[in-house]
Amino acid sequence: MRTFRYERAGSVSGAVALLAEAPHGAFLGGGTNLVDLMKLDVARPDLLVDVRRLTSDQVDELPDGGVRIGAATPNSELAADPLIRRRYPVLSQALLSGASGQLRNLATTAGNLLQRTRCPYFQNVTTPCNKREPGTGCSAIEGYHRDLAVLGTSPECVAAHPSDLAVALAALDAVVRTEGPDGERAIPMTELHRLPGPQPQRDTVLQHGELITAIDLPPLPFAARSCYRKIRDRASYAFALVAVAAAIDVADGVVRDVRLALGGVAHKPWRAVRAEELLRGGPAAQERFRQAAEAELADARPLPGNAFKVPLARNTMVRALLDLTGAPR
Ligand SMILES: Cc1cc2nc3c(=O)[nH]c(=O)nc-3n(C[C@H](O)[C@H](O)[C@H](O)COP(=O)(O)OP(=O)(O)OC[C@H]3O[C@@H](n4cnc5c(N)ncnc54)[C@H](O)[C@@H]3O)c2cc1C
Ligand code: SF4
Repeated sequence: MRTFRYERAGSVSGAVALLAEAPHGAFLGGGTNLVDLMKLDVARPDLLVDVRRLTSDQVDELPDGGVRIGAATPNSELAADPLIRRRYPVLSQALLSGASGQLRNLATTAGNLLQRTRCPYFQNVTTPCNKREPGTGCSAIEGYHRDLAVLGTSPECVAAHPSDLAVALAALDAVVRTEGPDGERAIPMTELHRLPGPQPQRDTVLQHGELITAIDLPPLPFAARSCYRKIRDRASYAFALVAVAAAIDVADGVVRDVRLALGGVAHKPWRAVRAEELLRGGPAAQERFRQAAEAELADARPLPGNAFKVPLARNTMVRALLDLTGAPR
């Protein structure tokens, strides 16, 4: 058993200062991922700074019509919030598709975004894994990789990002607010997580000791017509094989605007920029949806065990857009 210190800071700056002094310390949200990883000996923090009661746990309207989500807002309360359900249903649906009721009661908004990959080798300290132990190799490439990434992978790591919430936030152009040793930052959600490249041990662009304090959602009226489609092995309690977050604005059969992001296919939530560009200004029709999805997936480099994800992602994108627009199928 490894010993660690537990602290509760009285302020955000106090929490940041505590971690600045502890290079191997970590913030603790609901603990539903971090504590599991400590039990598996994958995470070995010597200090836990509890931030669950430190930042706001509320959803507030912003003057510009957007919404601010406190970093400590429990997943269950965010999913049930009337404003979120009405204006950003994709977010509510993404949360409700993940974990279980009990876990969602405990899990925080910030912790959800920073949960770590479920690659089985990452969670098993007896196997080589570049993400857990840089330079040891990737067991998944020649091993079991059915659940892992097909886009933006590197020879060092093919892990998939696990958060459903992050995929919906990427589609909605959310902005992550942080406070760290160098002050405050606003990071676009699409830039929070990294592709693995040669440094898969780094999941995000956050510095050590940088605390997420809130997430801002910009006003996006057409997100009232949005959805989250998640394909998984079981109907509940399972991570995505493929997921699609979609919002679309159609007038007179033409796509005026659209937001699309994919989950389960990359080391980060995958914003489908190429598909969005192809869809804007075109007909809201099945064939165009299929072309856009295929263009997005053209650079996919699947491994033998997860090649099925490419057609699955294409079909899920098309299905989400058909469902939202009611276009003939
Ligand atoms: C059986 C099971 C099934 C699950 N299924 C799904 C699923 O289908 N989809 C899904 O999306 N999730 C799923 N989850 C994951 C669950 O949603 C996450 O465990 C949870 O959201 C993490 O939130 P937390 O507050 O408990 O984070 P913690 O475990 O407390 O922390 C996670 C990470 O975030 C860091 N952190 C926490 N708060 C902050 C902050 N404010 N600023 C900076 N860093 C911070 C911690 O240091 C840690 O590195 C599942 C979990 C389990 C156990
Ligand atoms: S895919 Fe990434 S997380 Fe999984 S074994 Fe390879 S390096 Fe580790």
